[in-house]
Amino acid sequence: MRQSDYNMKISWVNALFLTLTPIVGFAGAAALWNNYGAPGIFEGVIFVSMYFACGLSITGGYHRLFSHRSYEGHWLAVLFYTVFGAGAFQNSVIEWCSDHRNHHKMVDTDNDPYNAKRGFWYSHMIWVMTVDDSQPNDFSNVKDLQANKIIAWQHRNIFKIGVASGWLLPMAIGYLYGGIPYAISGFIWGGVLRTVAVHHGTFCVNSIAHIFGTQPYDDTNTSRDSWWVAFLTFGEGYHNFHHIFQADYRNGIKWYHFDPTKWLIKTFSIFGLATKLKKTPQHSIDIAILDMKIKKNTQILEQSSVDSAPYVEKMKSTRDDLRSAMFSLHKATNEMKQGESKNSDELSAKISQLKQNVMDGETEIYAIFKDIRNAKPNSA
Ligand SMILES: [Zn+2]
Ligand SMILES: [Zn+2]
Repeated sequence: MRQSDYNMKISWVNALFLTLTPIVGFAGAAALWNNYGAPGIFEGVIFVSMYFACGLSITGGYHRLFSHRSYEGHWLAVLFYTVFGAGAFQNSVIEWCSDHRNHHKMVDTDNDPYNAKRGFWYSHMIWVMTVDDSQPNDFSNVKDLQANKIIAWQHRNIFKIGVASGWLLPMAIGYLYGGIPYAISGFIWGGVLRTVAVHHGTFCVNSIAHIFGTQPYDDTNTSRDSWWVAFLTFGEGYHNFHHIFQADYRNGIKWYHFDPTKWLIKTFSIFGLATKLKKTPQHSIDIAILDMKIKKNTQILEQSSVDSAPYVEKMKSTRDDLRSAMFSLHKATNEMKQGESKNSDELSAKISQLKQNVMDGETEIYAIFKDIRNAKPNSA
């Protein structure tokens, strides 16, 4: 379908907001520079702290807690996320999460609110600036959120809370720090320019994290993993992982993956503000990676004139054996951790054997991949 075939109307409030905030922000910063000199430590600190408070409320709160329930949040955490999330000016938790749940459920289709297949600019921000009257939202997918008192309060007062936390708070901090000039500075740097930065950080998850990067886990949708997108989006750039394992509180799964949202949730958990953090078992992740590799090798076979059937059969049986060895190892390791087994010597021997089975299975499947790359057509 072409863009003109869609029943789109301009949403003037959103369109003006997204156009005017950068103009006011940059013009304001230029005027401040002209009258009071270059931005200094105050501007840097207020910008960064508000950027983290509002940005992390979107990623840790709106996204990973409210949309996906990847952990449980103490009411103080819910309050923090709803107050500073409002200051990100991305609508209420209820609106945001309803769109986001639809995005996951119907990704890359016309029912996906930010369908990446409609192009970069559509998925980045045009979808916010337009309304499609043919698809009114009944919020039937966020009934669990509507039942929460803090979230319902935020929905009723979204603009007032946003102005108070996102703009008036940095303005008040500036005033207390150094009077009127710093109040204006707080408003421009901590309020308006920071709003623009958080907007485009979030928008990048819907646009560039569906365009640039790798697909190590799944290629049935457009989502992608990339470290530099993660850097711009509080860790949300590991988006291919997120689309397949959306209940995981992490997006970057390795300790060195840049995912400040995961670190915030983990820190919150130390203080009891986040509980029941959900983590995908490692063997499920490993199998997803393996299945993608098998898929790629099958494609290599299909593109060559090699008789593919024996290789495909071998990959399938080795994969199934490996999967059951990984699963048994996972079960035995859990048993060991919980200390349920009466005979722990027997259990450690079993674990060593299963580890060996997994290693053997991995060696075998990688040998098949190597054979496929070296295979010569029979008829050649
Ligand atoms: Zn998501
Ligand atoms: Zn996505």
